[in-house]
Amino acid sequence: MDNKFECDLTRDLLPIYLEGATCDESNHFLQNHLETCEECRAICELMREELPADIMKVHRPKRRRRLHAVGKLTLFVIAYLIVVIMFLYAFGHIFVYGF
Ligand SMILES: [Zn+2]
Repeated sequence: MDNKFECDLTRDLLPIYLEGATCDESNHFLQNHLETCEECRAICELMREELPADIMKVHRPKRRRRLHAVGKLTLFVIAYLIVVIMFLYAFGHIFVYGF
């Protein structure tokens, strides 16, 4: 039971590790421990199955919303430019050929 501390540490770090937020040293420690400790590996697999759904719920809508906002802005700018160009074209036409 001398690796009880390692097990506790591993289980504390697992959620962050699965989100990819741990540093290289932690990753190294965790990967080593998971290779040698069947119990923690089982917990890791369980968490890995549960986490993606959470990550999707928490992170994806944010990203999608940001992309959506950028898309809206781009559409707005393009529509604005089209209107400006049409006005310039119409006025230019009137100036050259008269009404
Ligand atoms: Zn362990």
